Amino acid sequence: MSSNTRATQLHSEAIIFDGHCDTILPMAGKRDFRQRNQQGQVDLPRLQEGGITCQIFAMGVIDPGKRTTNAAAKMLRLFDTFYRELERGEGFVLATCAEDIRQAKANGDVSAFLSIEGGEAIQGQLELLRMYYRLGVRAMGLTWNHPNEIANGVDEEHSPQGLTPFGFEVVNEMNRLGMIVDVSHLNEASFWDVAQNCSAPFIASHSNAYTLCPHRRNLKDEQLQALADKGGVVGVVFVPPFMDPKGKASLGRLIDHMDHIAGLCGVEHVGIGSDFDGFTAAPDSGEVIPDASSFGRLTEGMLARGYKDEEVKSILGGNFLRVVEKVAG
Ligand SMILES: [Zn+2]
Repeated sequence: MSSNTRATQLHSEAIIFDGHCDTILPMAGKRDFRQRNQQGQVDLPRLQEGGITCQIFAMGVIDPGKRTTNAAAKMLRLFDTFYRELERGEGFVLATCAEDIRQAKANGDVSAFLSIEGGEAIQGQLELLRMYYRLGVRAMGLTWNHPNEIANGVDEEHSPQGLTPFGFEVVNEMNRLGMIVDVSHLNEASFWDVAQNCSAPFIASHSNAYTLCPHRRNLKDEQLQALADKGGVVGVVFVPPFMDPKGKASLGRLIDHMDHIAGLCGVEHVGIGSDFDGFTAAPDSGEVIPDASSFGRLTEGMLARGYKDEEVKSILGGNFLRVVEKVAG
């Protein structure tokens, strides 16, 4: 079998899980999700072409630089956008547990797993957290970059302040409900508060290895180890400044981050979190892959690097699926 045939076959068998995209915002705007678009990186035709089984759609109501007002009303509008998209036709389904994802694979559907990016969405109220859970949300990034009612983000990079007292309650309630805690965007103090208090595996949905690229959005080796000790997964991210100190992106560089995390913690803690539709790269920065339709190249790249078939499958989605099953059922 030629190496490309092997890659294609493996890619088509695998459950492919992308830990982060920001596509709900363009979905709420001009993008027709059911059509192949020239703009952006994610729509249903491109997810299908890329073989994606499950895509985490992050819902955020962050206003960079400003305090978010009317968060709940803004969130409800995003839910409406998403649910109207689901109702438009076949091929696109909601996943709230591992079985939903397996079923999507069996049916050839693309499934959406909902997360919140930035805990200001819950306006300091556990009642809202629970209502979002009832609407299908199964993960939450506690902050975006700036501080909120729950925790400090990477804007407070060196602050010793981590979770607030309310933030500890949020983590407990997420554990009780079966929601995955996402530590991407947290400052280090908040990370350690989560690592020490979260009773379930947690994820960094879109972050890389700090050792290879010392950026505040990446995780240091001790953090990677602590996340792995809890059974979590890091979704390696395609944003050029998070990949390389010179801000250069490439497929090879992404696989370097996989290698680092796998070498330190084990391959079972590596996943993919593209952050598609969440960044615009500088013109000369290069790219990992152009959009969701090209996910197959990741499989080719990992095989070429020497990963075994089962390892490739675990990175493509098996590892995130394990965390979903453990936390959300
Ligand atoms: Zn983000």
